[in-house]
Amino acid sequence: MPARMNVLPKNTGWIEVICGPMFSGKTEELIRRLKRAQIGQQRVQIFKPSIDRRYAEAQIVSHSEQKLDSIAIDRAEEILALVRPDTQVVGIDEVQFFGAEAVRVCEQLANRGLRVIVAGLDQDYRGVPFDPMPHLLAVAEYISKELAVCVVCGNPAHRSQRLSPDDRRILVGARGAYEARCRACFRADGDEPAQSKSEAEAAQPGLPLGEPDGGRRLGRRTGEGQGPEHSK
Ligand SMILES: [Zn+2]
Repeated sequence: MPARMNVLPKNTGWIEVICGPMFSGKTEELIRRLKRAQIGQQRVQIFKPSIDRRYAEAQIVSHSEQKLDSIAIDRAEEILALVRPDTQVVGIDEVQFFGAEAVRVCEQLANRGLRVIVAGLDQDYRGVPFDPMPHLLAVAEYISKELAVCVVCGNPAHRSQRLSPDDRRILVGARGAYEARCRACFRADGDEPAQSKSEAEAAQPGLPLGEPDGGRRLGRRTGEGQGPEHSK
């Protein structure tokens, strides 16, 4: 039995996951943690999928233009070869694009003693958990769920509404292609026009979902639980 508990891990690595919808500040939070580590004289390396070329080839950039130098890679496995022997902190942005391989790579890095901080979308544009995020959340020591603001009604938003009819799961985009929506305003089929303000107010949480026209007004559901409580 240890004599005391360490509030922060010592002599070991760990995994931190920052998840949430688009426009929730995930990359901003990733950059904040990585910059703080750099200020603390820790050696940091940052990776991002080469698929995400929205802003800059060699940087991660948040929607609010915070940025850090990064290495663009095609596969998560490349990180294992690219991490320098003296690196202490590894950041990975848009980790959902790397698939299941990202879990194995993060575990290996953490097992080597590195602090691994990843940011990614936890649900796709249909509101379906975005693999490998559920697995990463399960194996991580620390998880943070960021919420955006619903552009329709102003509620905290945990979903990314796609505004184009494209049905590919991966469609890299910024403002214009997606917007943040709350549970009540999100539409899984994505191709209906955004509701008017008065409709949005009528669809505030608390409205009985079983009411006669609730299904029509709230749009098609993806089938997950619709419990009233928000689990943080
Ligand atoms: Zn809303």
